[in-house]
Amino acid sequence: MYIDGRFVNAKSGKTFNVYDPATEQVIATCPAGEAADVDLAAAAAKKAFYGGWRGTSAQERGRVLFRIADRIRARRDELARIETLNSGKPIVESEYDMDDCVTCFEYYGGLATKINGEVIPVPTNAMVLAVKEPMGVAGQIIPWNYPLAMAAWKLGPALAAGCCAVIKPAEQTPLTLLELAKDFEACGLPPGVVNVVTGMGPECGGPIVTHPDIRKIAFTGSAEVGKLIMRNAADQLKRVSLELGGKSPNIFFSDSDFEAAVDGALFGVFINQGEVCSAGSRVLVQKEIYQKFVEACAAKAKTIRVGPGIERETKMGPLVSAEQRDRVRKYQEIGRKEAKTAAGGGAPSQFAKGWYVEPTIFYDVDNNARIAQEEIFGPVMSIIPFKDEADALRIANATPYGLAAAVWTRDIFKAFRVVKQLEAGVVWVNHMQPTMLEAPWGGYKMSGFGRELGHWGVEEYLETKQIYVNLDETPIAWY
Ligand code: NDP
Repeated sequence: MYIDGRFVNAKSGKTFNVYDPATEQVIATCPAGEAADVDLAAAAAKKAFYGGWRGTSAQERGRVLFRIADRIRARRDELARIETLNSGKPIVESEYDMDDCVTCFEYYGGLATKINGEVIPVPTNAMVLAVKEPMGVAGQIIPWNYPLAMAAWKLGPALAAGCCAVIKPAEQTPLTLLELAKDFEACGLPPGVVNVVTGMGPECGGPIVTHPDIRKIAFTGSAEVGKLIMRNAADQLKRVSLELGGKSPNIFFSDSDFEAAVDGALFGVFINQGEVCSAGSRVLVQKEIYQKFVEACAAKAKTIRVGPGIERETKMGPLVSAEQRDRVRKYQEIGRKEAKTAAGGGAPSQFAKGWYVEPTIFYDVDNNARIAQEEIFGPVMSIIPFKDEADALRIANATPYGLAAAVWTRDIFKAFRVVKQLEAGVVWVNHMQPTMLEAPWGGYKMSGFGRELGHWGVEEYLETKQIYVNLDETPIAWY
């Protein structure tokens, strides 16, 4: 772990294993941090916050973020390789993720100098200001699907705001963040400003959520853990932002560009093995093109090259863990009973080792089926037919989640009518998944609350202070 500028073991001496999902081999052991380690990390972060970081100039904080971006750029291939070995994802996608991390740190490096307050118009006998101040120490809990990118999405805005951080990567994928931490000091980050604690969710993440010196929790992960975090943070009325995934509809009208639509449906749910919070896992297709669409998707899905992420030709790697593989296999079984199978439905037979599953397509899926309502977080597409615009919207919004949605049509009037009625925090037209670091990211309904990225991301780490300055020298006429 990286605490107060040094790499340390857990106080208890306990460790846990980290695996390569393609070989099932142990590739590292990490300290299993617990409450005592979180105490040290929080104390270091608090000392760094009050000891100077909150008072550094915005230019200086920005320069540190630019240097972190430069280091990731310089080490792109090495970090991408580690990300793939640890998470299973295709190397091409890991390289893209590293570029995303560079852009994210650069964006927040630039934004650091643009965090302004406001002057409020009041009568001439006073001056009223609203100024922005960093919240203090932030606790950040990261998932395993985009390990370094999710850390960048949280560290970038926190550091730009002037906060310090105690950050916990997922137990499955701690390696790239630890690797990047080796560069923190050289990038000009004072000891204690960022502390990386590794360990299990309840034992290491739990104490972050309840630590009295940690003022804010930023979490990405499952809805179940999100609810727990909200409950556990309530006693201290801690600020919380939650990004909790979803069951996003990808809607195809019969007038959409057919070839682009089929590719968009596959990309929307099979990228990153489907381990994507915004995965377009419910594919809604208008009846006129439905049969042809199912057949075209199935034919293409069968050509997706599944294999070790480290091989450049691989389009889909293994899932992150045996547990996640079992979870997805369970949903494949449920899907085979609930709907018809167009492609996949099991595990590929050619691998002796590795947590692989087949890209799977179910069709004639009822929107009330479990595979249409529950987050699977794997390469499983559920195709649902619809009649018209109203029918599409009814089905699309009939889910407890509301992270993302996409609509495909050549009719701009229809596209915007649908966009305005979709209950989702991110909506794409004629595309699915492009993520702009300058734009807000977050969900409606049970997909959580708070927004990451863009200037919205930095707001999550800022308090707003009202300052009233009396300009009237006459005494208060009260006595
Ligand atoms: P979790 O929600 O359990 O894990 C996300 C993060 O929360 C990890 O760092 C985890 O630590 C931590 N955590 C777990 N329990 C606690 C706790 N009690 N207190 C504080 N932190 C905790 O996701 P899983 O890995 O269990 O995946 C299960 C499902 O969650 C997936 O199938 C998917 O549906 C969803 N998910 C959604 C993601 C998204 O992007 N929205 C990302 C990942 C998963 P640790 O890993 O060390 O246990």
